[in-house]
Amino acid sequence: MEKKLKVAVLGATGSVGQKFIELLSNHPWFELTEVAASDRSSGKKYSEAVNWIMNTPLPEKVKEMIVQKCEPNLKSRLVFSALDSSVAGEIESEFADNGYFVVSNARNHRFDENVPLIIPEVNSEHLEIIKTNKKSGAIITNPNCSTIGLVMALKPLHDNFGLESVNVVTLQAVSGAGYPGLASLDIIDNVIPFISGEEGKMESEPLKILGELKNNTFDLAKIKISAQCNRVSVIDGHTECVQVKLKNMASAEEIIQVWESFSSPPQKLNLPSAPKQPIVYLYDEKYPQPKLHRNLERGMAVSVGRLRECSLFDYKFVVLSHNTVRGAAGGTLLISELMKAQGYLDKIL
Ligand code: NAP
Repeated sequence: MEKKLKVAVLGATGSVGQKFIELLSNHPWFELTEVAASDRSSGKKYSEAVNWIMNTPLPEKVKEMIVQKCEPNLKSRLVFSALDSSVAGEIESEFADNGYFVVSNARNHRFDENVPLIIPEVNSEHLEIIKTNKKSGAIITNPNCSTIGLVMALKPLHDNFGLESVNVVTLQAVSGAGYPGLASLDIIDNVIPFISGEEGKMESEPLKILGELKNNTFDLAKIKISAQCNRVSVIDGHTECVQVKLKNMASAEEIIQVWESFSSPPQKLNLPSAPKQPIVYLYDEKYPQPKLHRNLERGMAVSVGRLRECSLFDYKFVVLSHNTVRGAAGGTLLISELMKAQGYLDKIL
């Protein structure tokens, strides 16, 4: 059996960091060997530093790990970043400058010139840009959690019919605000119609992801996108109500057909975290629902439902995806598996 690649998690004590630890506990290719976080946690045993909120037990091996500082002296050359964006920018650059491959969930480097913004099913070819990197390491970014669900559903429409404009209204889970996140009195029995910076990310990130990499520059897709983002009292799973205007009109049957038949490199390469069916169309008019569908395909599938004609745009539908799995830790693992399968990690093996 091939030796596992040693990996570290930066920001290992937070909401996304804990999800990494859970997903890495039996990973066939990666072995979690180091955890790092802020000065509040470093030097402590992980079990003492963390307030474990996953609903699976904290793995025995990780309990005893001593939390490191986020400094580029770790033994693992592949690091997953779940750092707060107030510190991620600088720390991730330091790691990349020192030869590490950093796969990040933070927003800071998503629009850097030679940093790809990857959804493995959508734009795996954008990884090519890291070959132009002058640093010895590289930063690879995972998009915003709501962007991922949206763009997964848009990709087959864009490829087959062309997208002219998109309107999206989100209903986002509280785990998306990190841990401890919002005060319970602010969110229980409530909807908060503002998530700082979120609408801008949802309007800009899809254009890079659905754009083309030409002569080592990203040519942004020309689609008009408008987003409104709301925080709702759901623990996990972001729901998005989407309206689309297509360049070439299609029937509802054709749209469902391109979603259901959507398949891409992660499925063809049979990557460990890849969902067999990346987009699951649910025919019951009450679906998708976060409580029922966020864990489809271990949280890696995006569910879509309620496709119907729209009197303002051409069609409207509802998308649901698990924000800390598909939208964060699971998405990052899938990027890293793709990089390993395509030889991008050979120099650190
Ligand atoms: P979180 O729960 O607040 O966790 C933040 C992590 O960053 C903790 O481990 C914290 O360590 C660490 N940290 C804070 N200040 C630090 C410093 N000065 N030096 C080193 N480490 C520091 O946040 P989260 O929700 O997990 O999000 C992590 C990142 O992923 C963010 O950039 C977020 O935008 C992004 N993201 C989140 C989601 C989601 O659904 N939650 C989805 C997609 C992307 P201590 O515990 O030691 O303070």
